[in-house]
Amino acid sequence: MYVNPTLGVTSLPAKSNGDWTAGLALERGQAYISVIPSEIGCPGTSSFLELVLTLSVHELGHVLGLAHHGIKIVSGNKYCPMTFAHIKEAMKNRVPLQECISLLDPRNFCDGCAVKLQTTYQTRNFRSIVD
Ligand SMILES: [Zn+2]
Ligand SMILES: [Zn+2]
Repeated sequence: MYVNPTLGVTSLPAKSNGDWTAGLALERGQAYISVIPSEIGCPGTSSFLELVLTLSVHELGHVLGLAHHGIKIVSGNKYCPMTFAHIKEAMKNRVPLQECISLLDPRNFCDGCAVKLQTTYQTRNFRSIVD
């Protein structure tokens, strides 16, 4: 499978099944993130940039063939960017999305995701994708 990953960034609200969503991966390698300050914080702050990076890595992960999975810790107490179970649970309990996303580490995939990417794309180092 070859995809030409494309990530779009919009400040417009994006919806999935009627609910606002921070990001969405579409068919044929396209994904976008919806960057709305009221939802993900104040532009220009380091936490905002970190959230944008995390959302981007998560959606590009989908584009490259990765799926959501349960909690997998990759560094310190942070989770693989494809961890999603906690977000669903937290949203039910009205935990702010920013808080949930900040639990993810955009710089490291878990072993399962890394192996899948390496197998699919024959690339040596997907483990750490951001320097
Ligand atoms: Zn996702
Ligand atoms: Zn993973």
